[in-house]
Amino acid sequence: MSAHDEGFKIALEEAKQGASEGGIPIGACLVDKAGNVLGRGHNMRIQKSSATLHGEISALENAGRLPASAYKGATMYTTLSPCDMCTGACILYKVARVVMGENNTFVGGEEHLKRNGIEVVNLQNAECAALMKKFIDEHPDKWYEDIGEPS
Ligand SMILES: [Zn+2]
Repeated sequence: MSAHDEGFKIALEEAKQGASEGGIPIGACLVDKAGNVLGRGHNMRIQKSSATLHGEISALENAGRLPASAYKGATMYTTLSPCDMCTGACILYKVARVVMGENNTFVGGEEHLKRNGIEVVNLQNAECAALMKKFIDEHPDKWYEDIGEPS
C-alpha cells in the first residue's frame, strides 16, 4: 500500500478538484476487491450547500446503489481520516479497508473502524496535509462547519 496506489491517486485528484472549485479539499475513491473503481468523489458541502456530502459519502453516492456483495473486500481511499459519519458509512457497507492520506489535520473514527474489523492504513501523505492546511488557514470557519464544531 503506497501513495502510488491507483485508488489513492484518484482520491488525491478528487481533493485537488475540490480545491479548484473553492471547496474543502478532501477526496475519496471506492475500489472493489478486484481493483475496479466503483465510485469517486470529493467533499461537496460548499459547492452543493450539502450537509452530508463529505468526500467518502460523495464516492459512495457516485458509486450508486449496489448490492452488499459489491462492498465485500472493497477499500475506501480518502485523503483525510474519516469523520464519524463517513466511518459509519464504511461500517454499514462493511468495506474491508480504509486507506487515508493523513490524520495530522483531523483524527476521525479510526478506532471505531478497527473495532469493527476494518483494516486502517495511514499513508501520512504530505500533499494531502498541505491541501488541508492551506484551506483551513484561509477558511477556518468553513472547516469547523464541516466537522460539526463551533468555530
Ligand atoms: Zn466525513
